Amino acid sequence: MLIRQAPEHYQPAAQALLGKVIMVTGAGDGIGRAAALAYAAHGATVILLGRTEAKLEAVYDAIEQAGGPVPALVPVDLGSISEQQAADLAAELQAEFGRLDGLLHNASLLGERRSMASSSWQGWQEVMQVNVNAAFLLTRELLPLLQAAPSASVIFTSSGVGRVGKAFWGAYAVSKFATEGMMEVLAAELENTSKIRVNCINPGATNTAMRRAAYPAETPTDNPFPADIMPVYLYLMSDDSAGVTGVSFNAQ
Ligand code: NAP
Repeated sequence: MLIRQAPEHYQPAAQALLGKVIMVTGAGDGIGRAAALAYAAHGATVILLGRTEAKLEAVYDAIEQAGGPVPALVPVDLGSISEQQAADLAAELQAEFGRLDGLLHNASLLGERRSMASSSWQGWQEVMQVNVNAAFLLTRELLPLLQAAPSASVIFTSSGVGRVGKAFWGAYAVSKFATEGMMEVLAAELENTSKIRVNCINPGATNTAMRRAAYPAETPTDNPFPADIMPVYLYLMSDDSAGVTGVSFNAQ
């Protein structure tokens, strides 16, 4: 596995994403929210996908108030998304935008933190559905739109436990190994046949609801806020990373 970081002290141009259309999953909270705001602040029209409409609306309002391009709102529960729903979404985006310049797979469930022996079947499937299956389905349906962009970027979100297995991290860790694998398979398939680059980001410990749930004994503010880890998210979405593919990045 190839592991890298964004160029040191990377600073994108103010309008690095001008005119780009970028989808962010799990855009209502945490790292996805920060990425949506950062992408819009650099000129992108952001498609906000998430399961809690009120949170998406709050991000929409924040982008509008900051003077960013009007975003699009896609309330979808990735825990139950069907093939038909994903195909319909792709058709709607095709009609409205005609292409997709970026896709950030960020939405994830932490799920149960238990031994394999005591993990529930239902909990296992919920995590694999949101973290792996839905990311595959969206990617497959959106590939034609990504192919239609002059240069597109797909980013998957990994984790430290997606690179080294740790006890009691269960389906979440396994889903992140699968995510790294999905990135490598797709990057290899597209490398010489398209202008789509495909990479992973491991955010590292970041002060979000998920981190606070996973590490209740930790002082939350000891970790960076989502806005602090945006350089690599901007680097991989901007044309500054053209030609970079098949790499797993560390945000910290
Ligand atoms: P978070 O604060 O829990 O945010 C997760 C987002 O995913 C939320 O917006 C959530 O929506 C959305 N989501 C969850 N289930 C969904 C579903 N069924 N359908 C649609 N959206 C759904 O987590 P985060 O810390 O920002 O995590 C972002 C990514 O970074 C994840 O992939 C996570 O695994 C990864 N990561 C985080 C850390 C860290 O320290 N924070 C470390 C390593 C990796 P709702 O708000 O509506 O529930």
